[in-house]
Amino acid sequence: NVRVRFAPSPTGPLHIGGVRTALFNYLFAKKHNGTFVLRIEDTDQNRYVEGAEQYIIDALNWCGFPFDEGPNKAEKFGPYRQSERKHLYKQYADELIASGNAYYAFDTAEALDAHRKDHEAKGKTFIYNWHNRLKLNNSLSLSAEDVQQKLDAGEDYVIRFKSPQDEALHLKDIIRGDIKIDTNVLDDKVLFKSDGMPTYHLANIVDDHLMEISHVIRGEEWLPSLALHVLLYRAFNWEAPEFAHLPLILKPTGKGKLSKRDGDKLGFPVFPLEWKSPEGDISRGYKEDGYFPEAVVNFLAFLGWNPGTEQEIFSLEELIQAFDLSKVNKSGARFDPDKTKWFNHHYMQEQLDLHLAEQFKPILDEKLNSNESDIDVNYIALVIGLIKERATFISDFWDLTHFFFATPTSYDEKATKKAFKDDTAEVLTKVKSIITHIDDFTVNALQTDIKGWITENNIGFGKVMMPLRIALVGALQGPDVFEIMFLIGKNETIKRIDKVIS
Ligand code: GLU
Repeated sequence: NVRVRFAPSPTGPLHIGGVRTALFNYLFAKKHNGTFVLRIEDTDQNRYVEGAEQYIIDALNWCGFPFDEGPNKAEKFGPYRQSERKHLYKQYADELIASGNAYYAFDTAEALDAHRKDHEAKGKTFIYNWHNRLKLNNSLSLSAEDVQQKLDAGEDYVIRFKSPQDEALHLKDIIRGDIKIDTNVLDDKVLFKSDGMPTYHLANIVDDHLMEISHVIRGEEWLPSLALHVLLYRAFNWEAPEFAHLPLILKPTGKGKLSKRDGDKLGFPVFPLEWKSPEGDISRGYKEDGYFPEAVVNFLAFLGWNPGTEQEIFSLEELIQAFDLSKVNKSGARFDPDKTKWFNHHYMQEQLDLHLAEQFKPILDEKLNSNESDIDVNYIALVIGLIKERATFISDFWDLTHFFFATPTSYDEKATKKAFKDDTAEVLTKVKSIITHIDDFTVNALQTDIKGWITENNIGFGKVMMPLRIALVGALQGPDVFEIMFLIGKNETIKRIDKVIS
C-alpha cells in the first residue's frame, strides 16, 4: 500500500525544486495505485509566511497533480498541518526519554558557544554527542528531582536525541543504494523545545509514522538527516519507510545549486506561479509567463529522471507509466530554461486552435481597443492555425498576426526599399485587377490566377510577391500570401493594395 507525502514548509513560494519533488511523489503514487498526501510542516512559526500554503495548493492544482489527501481534503489521517497537531508530539518526546533514547538538556546558548570556542582553540570541532554530553549541563548528570525542579522553575530546555556511540550504520536509499555512516559523526539533535514545539525531525518522523507513509521521496538536502531519522524509527520501534533522495537542481551553467537569483538574472521563472510576497515583491511564474502546465511538467520530469530511451515528450499519464524511482540519477540535474521553451512550443502545436484563440482574444481586444464581441474566435482560430508553428507563447501571437486584424499603418523601410521598384505600382495595379475579377475568392483561385499571370508573362515571383506581401503585412514577414488574402477577404486585400499604390 503505497502512501507518499509532499511535506513543504510554508515559508514562501514553492520553487521549481519543490514542485519537482511533488511531481516525483505524485508519479510514484499513481504508478503504484497509491495515495499522494500533502502535509504542511509549519512548526517553525518564525518562518511562516502568509499565503504560502494556498500558493502551494494552487501550484499543485495548476500543474495538474493535486494531492489526494491533505488540508480540507479526504482527511483520513488529519489534521495535515503540523501546527494543528502540536499537542501530539510531546508524548513521543517523552516516550524517547522514558526509553533512554532522548534527554533533557538545559545548556544556555552562551555555554554552548563557549564549548564550541574552546574546541576550536584546540583545533577540534565540537559535536554535541556522547563524547561530551556528560560534561554539559544536561539532565543526564542530574537526578530526576533536579530535572523536575528545573522544569518547574520554568528553565529553558530542549529535548535531545541520544545518538549512539561507535556504531556503523547501514542506510538504504532507493536512488543512492547503500550508505554507511559512522554514528560518531552525528550530534544529539534537538527534537523538542521549551516553547512546546517539536523540531522538524521529530514532527516529521511522528507524522510519517502516523500517516502510514511507505516511501519518503524528498530533496538531496535532507540526506544528512537520514541517519537520525532511521535511528528515530529504531528508537520508537517503528518500521521505517523506504527513502529516496532526489538530486540537486543545478544552475544552467551546471555549476552550483539553482537559486531564485539565477532566474532574475537570466530572465526565466523559478516558480510555477507568480508570487507576491507580503512585502509586495513580485516573483514571476511559469503560468503568468505563458507556459502550459504540460510543458512545465514534462520538463520537470526530466530534472533527474529519464526513460532511458530517446522519447522526450511525455504526458502526465505517460510519465506515470514510464516513471521509475530507481532510474533517478544521483548526480545533480542541470536546469535548462530553453528546454522548457522547446517543450512549450511543442505543446502549443498540440492545442486546439480554437482553445488558443480563446486565450488570445483578450490580448487582441486590448491591442485593437475593440470590445469583446468584435472579432469572431473562429476567425482568430484560423489565423492561429497558420502561424502557431512559429510561436512558443500565446503572447507571441500579436506580433505574428496583427495584420490579420488591422490594416498596416507603417511599412518596413528596408523591405520597401528592396521590394518596391519603378514599375511596382503598375504590377500591383494588375494584381489588383486580377483579384477584383475573382468571384470564387479562395486560396486556390488566388493562387492559380496570380501565379498563372506571373508565369505567363515571365515577370519573376519576387517582383510581384514581395511588394504584395508588404502591402498586406507591412513587412516581408508572415505566412503564405494567398492564405493572408483569403482570410482578410477581397475588400480588405484591395484596400491594402490601393493604400500602397496611391
Ligand atoms: N518540511 C521539509 C521541507 O520543507 C520536508 C522534508 C521532508 O520531506 O522530509 O522540505
